Amino acid sequence: MKRGQKQRFYQEPKKCWVNDKEKICYDSEEEAEMAARYIEATHQLPRGTLKVYKCNFGEHWHIANNRGMCN
Ligand SMILES: [Zn+2]
Repeated sequence: MKRGQKQRFYQEPKKCWVNDKEKICYDSEEEAEMAARYIEATHQLPRGTLKVYKCNFGEHWHIANNRGMCN
């Protein structure tokens, strides 16, 4: 494999823009929930810190936290 060649081991997450922020889209509520719990675990956040919500702009879900930091 040549250096600099694009290697894709995972699919780039879909994203959309909400309030000037680029946010990762999740295809389903379950998927977003799973990602939220995983992020909570890796950042040692209390369970429930992250909320999932359905996007206003499309058929997908996003994660938001209490401080308004989103991804
Ligand atoms: Zn969206």
